[in-house]
Amino acid sequence: MAENTKPVLRFAPSPTGMLHIGGARTALFNWLYARHTGGTFLLRIEDTDRERSTPQAVDAILNGMTWMGLNWDGEVIHQFARAARHREIAEKLLAEGKAYRCYATADELTQMREEQKAAGKPMRYDGRWRDRTPGPEQEGKPYVVRLKARQEGETIVHDVVLGHVRFENAQLDDMVLLRSDATPTYMLAVVVDDADMGITHVIRGADHLNNAARQLQLIEAMGAAIPIYGHLPLINGPDGAKLSKRHGALAVEAYRDMGYLPETMRNYLLRLGWSHGDDEIISTEQAVAWFNFESIGKSAARMDYKKLDNLNGHYIRESSDAVLVADVTAFLAGMTPPRILPVTACARLEAAMGSLKERAKTLVELIAGAEFLFTDGPRTLDEAAAKLLTPEGRATLAAVLPALEATQWTTSELESAARAFAEGKGLKLGQVAQPLRAALTGKASSPPLFEMLALLGRQESLARLTAYTV
Ligand code: GLU
Repeated sequence: MAENTKPVLRFAPSPTGMLHIGGARTALFNWLYARHTGGTFLLRIEDTDRERSTPQAVDAILNGMTWMGLNWDGEVIHQFARAARHREIAEKLLAEGKAYRCYATADELTQMREEQKAAGKPMRYDGRWRDRTPGPEQEGKPYVVRLKARQEGETIVHDVVLGHVRFENAQLDDMVLLRSDATPTYMLAVVVDDADMGITHVIRGADHLNNAARQLQLIEAMGAAIPIYGHLPLINGPDGAKLSKRHGALAVEAYRDMGYLPETMRNYLLRLGWSHGDDEIISTEQAVAWFNFESIGKSAARMDYKKLDNLNGHYIRESSDAVLVADVTAFLAGMTPPRILPVTACARLEAAMGSLKERAKTLVELIAGAEFLFTDGPRTLDEAAAKLLTPEGRATLAAVLPALEATQWTTSELESAARAFAEGKGLKLGQVAQPLRAALTGKASSPPLFEMLALLGRQESLARLTAYTV
C-alpha cells in the first residue's frame, strides 16, 4: 500500500468549558488546511484532567464544532482512554535510559524552589535524580518518571507562523512524564497521541509555544517524526487587551444564540488572523481553495463586533428565503422552552422573507422584525409604534379604513386607495401609512406596508387595525 503522504491535522480541545472563540478559530484553521490539501482532520478530546473535564463540556465542544460546520474524520479520540499506551511509552523510555525515576518528595521540591527563589534563580527542577541510582531506602517509595532532556545546546521550534523559535535547553528542566500514581502527564499524552495518530501538522494557540520546545525533546527521545508546528497569535478584545469575559461572549454557542450564522463565523474567524489581499467576504469554498499558512498574521488579532454584524447581514441577505425560514424555525425550536411556529406563520414568514432579510443583521433581529407574522390578533405596541398612534394618528387610521375595505385587498389596490385618501386630505402618504403600520405590526418599521396588509389578508388586517381606531 502506498504511504499516506497527505497531511493529518487535529484539533485537541480540553473539555473544561465551552468551545470558545479562540478554540473555534484553531479548529477552523486545522479543518481548512486538511480540506485544502485533501488531508485528514481528527478530533481528540484531551480529557486527562479528570477533575476539570466534564461530559457537558465534551457535548458543548462537539455541538459547537457541528454547528460551525467543522466536520471531523473518523471517531472522536478520547485521550484518557489511552492512558495505558502513554504509560507504556514512559516505561519504554525508562528502560532505554531516556527517562528516570525521581524520588524527590513534595517537601524537598518546595524547599528546592524556595532556595532558588531566595538566590534569585529561576525555579525549576534541578535534576537531582538524573544520574542517581535509587538505593534500598527508595524501595517501595513513590516516584515520578522524568524525561532525561538534553541540557546543552538549543531546541528550535520551526514554526510556520512564527518562524524559527529558539529555546536554550538549559532553561528547560526534566519534565514529569508519569506522576507518582502512574498517571501520564498532559505533555506525555499529547506527544504520544500525536505520534500514534500520525499527526503531520500541529496548529494550535500561541499559548502552547513553550510546550512545543519540551514536546520536541520528548519526540526526539521517542524517535518519533517531528510534526510541522504553527502557533496562532492570540485573539484580543476590541480594545487590544487579552480577550476576556469582560469583552462579552467567549463561547461559540453564545454567537449562535445571538443569531449569527455558521458561515458568518467561519468567514469572521478566518479573517481573525488570516488574510487574502483586502478580501473581507470569503466564502467557505474560497477559504478551502485559498487557505495557506503563509498568510496567517504574526501579531494578535482584534475582535471587531461591527465587522461581525456586517458580515452576518451579508450572509443573511445571501441566504435563500427557504433556507432562512429553516434557520429561523430551527433557532426558535432550539430556544428554552422551544417555540414551534404554526404552518400559517411559516408560510407568512417565507412570503415576507425577501424584505425581512434586508433589514436584519442577526437572526434575532430578523425574528423580532417578523414577530407580527407569527400570531394573530391586535398587536402590543412598542414605544415607537405607540408614538404614532396618538389620538390624531388613530383618527387618520379610522378615516382611511373604509377606503381600504372597499378594495379587493391586493397590494396595489391597497396602496392606490391609501394614496388617493392621503391626497384627498392633503396628507403625505407617510402620515397615513405610519399609523397603519404601527397598528398592523406593533412597530414603526416593517417590510413594505401594503405587501404586509395583503399577506395578512383582509380579516386579520382589519382585526388589528380596528383595535386602534379609538
Ligand atoms: N488541549 C490543549 C488545549 O485545549 C491543546 C493541546 C494541543 O493542541 O497540543 O489548549
